[in-house]
Amino acid sequence: MTSTDTIAEAPTRQERISRLRESAHRIRHNALLMGEVQGQGYIGQALGVADILAVAYCDQLRFRPEDPEWVGRDRFLLSIGHYAIALYAALAEAGTIPVSELETYGSDESRLPMSGMASYTPGMEISGGSLGHGLTVAAGMALGLRRLGSESRIFNLLSDGELDEGSTWEAALECSSHELDNVTAIVDVNALQADGPTATVLRTEPVTDKWRAFGWHAVRVDGNDIGALVDAFDEAAAHRGSPSVIVCDTRIGRGVPLLENREKAHFMRVEEHEWQIARTQLEEGFTR
Ligand SMILES: [Mg+2]
Repeated sequence: MTSTDTIAEAPTRQERISRLRESAHRIRHNALLMGEVQGQGYIGQALGVADILAVAYCDQLRFRPEDPEWVGRDRFLLSIGHYAIALYAALAEAGTIPVSELETYGSDESRLPMSGMASYTPGMEISGGSLGHGLTVAAGMALGLRRLGSESRIFNLLSDGELDEGSTWEAALECSSHELDNVTAIVDVNALQADGPTATVLRTEPVTDKWRAFGWHAVRVDGNDIGALVDAFDEAAAHRGSPSVIVCDTRIGRGVPLLENREKAHFMRVEEHEWQIARTQLEEGFTR
C-alpha cells in the first residue's frame, strides 16, 4: 500500500491474503510474459519469489509508484541482479512501470535489462550482479536514514547462494551492532545456486540459527505461503532493537508444474511451444 492511499477501514487478515494471492498470480503472469520475450532466463526464481514480492510491494512497503525517488519511501534492495525479471514483474503490479513495457524486457534501449541496474529502471534502488553487496548497502543506507531521523525502512532480498559471501556476514554484524531495526533482510532459500544445489556448494544450514547468532531477530517461513509471509512481515515491522530477517523456503518455478521440475532450473531455457503450456498451468493452478 502506498502512503497516498486513504483507507476507510483496515482490511482483515483474510482480505489482505486474498488480495495478495491475486497480486502474486499477476506477478507470475508478468514474469512468464517477459520470459517468453527472451525464451530463457531466471524464470524459476521469479516464480519462486512472486509471493514474497507481492507481500512486500502490495502490502508492506511505503512508496509512491508515480514518484519512485520520493525521499520518504521504503527502500527495497535487490542484491541478486539476476532476479531482475522478478522485480520488474512486481514493479509492474505495483504501478511503478507500465505492464505494456514488459515486452521490451532485455532488448536494446529497454529500461528493463536482464540484470538489475539502478540507472535504468524506476524503482530499482541498486545495481546487482556481483553477489554479497546488497546487505552492505542496506547497512549504510539504514545508518544514514536513521541519522536523518527518517522512518523509512530498508528491505534487502538476498539468495541462499549469497550466504556464501563473507561480505553478507560482515554486513549482518554491522546491522546488529548498530541495532538497525529499520533493516529487514529476506533470504530466498530455494536450495539452488548457479553451481548446483546449495547444500553441496557450501553448507549454510542451519540458516536461521546463524542469523540469530549474529544478533538478528529471525523467523523462518514457507515463502510460498502468503498468510505466513504476511505474519512474518508484520512481526518484522513491529520488532524493535535489532534487525530482522525472514528466511523464506521457496520452490523454484512455483505455480507452473512444467517448470517446477526442470532439471536445469537455475537458468532455464523454455521451448517456444512450452510457453502456452506454462500459462495454462499457471491459470489452472490458481483458484480464486
Ligand atoms: Mg538460490
